Amino acid sequence: MTDGYDYSASRSGIMDQWEHHAPKVLMSSIGLSILLGVLGGPPTVASVTLSTVAFGVLVVSALLMIRHGRRLCESCAAAIPLNATEQAQRYRRRLWTAHAGGQLKLVGLYLAVMISSSLLLTQPGGRWPWALIQTSMIYVIAAHATHRRLQPWCPWCSGGGGGDDFRVEAPDSPRGPGRQLV
Ligand SMILES: [Zn+2]
Ligand SMILES: [Zn+2]
Repeated sequence: MTDGYDYSASRSGIMDQWEHHAPKVLMSSIGLSILLGVLGGPPTVASVTLSTVAFGVLVVSALLMIRHGRRLCESCAAAIPLNATEQAQRYRRRLWTAHAGGQLKLVGLYLAVMISSSLLLTQPGGRWPWALIQTSMIYVIAAHATHRRLQPWCPWCSGGGGGDDFRVEAPDSPRGPGRQLV
């Protein structure tokens, strides 16, 4: 849905750049938050400030990413790869992941795992598995960014003719029974 985009109003410099690069900024701030969580230790002024800033950047980037998905962006249009078909083939797992984000059951399950993973932090040695689980968020964001870039070539979009209405079906080249989400 491109409800009333206009290029002229969107040329406001740094926010536009931030919006276009929101997935990368988002992934970096999540990475930073995970790092702070792994390092742990008693809270200091520096660590509390850093995690507050990381959280603020994270929220703004997430909102910008959603906004970016709803309008046309010149930088995106200019970045369409020449070998898009090939890339869509290579990144089909990411494209599938982006579509899985529309399945409520899967999202619910994922959120449950993410939230309950915080319990690991209370266990000795639980920080690393926690970090590993949190890192999957970075993959999910990368999947959405890739999907936005390669949407016209996405095998799951072209079947349904639209972004939101889809069914997750096995692609034509099966990878075995243990199909992973992440
Ligand atoms: Zn863009
Ligand atoms: Zn798609």
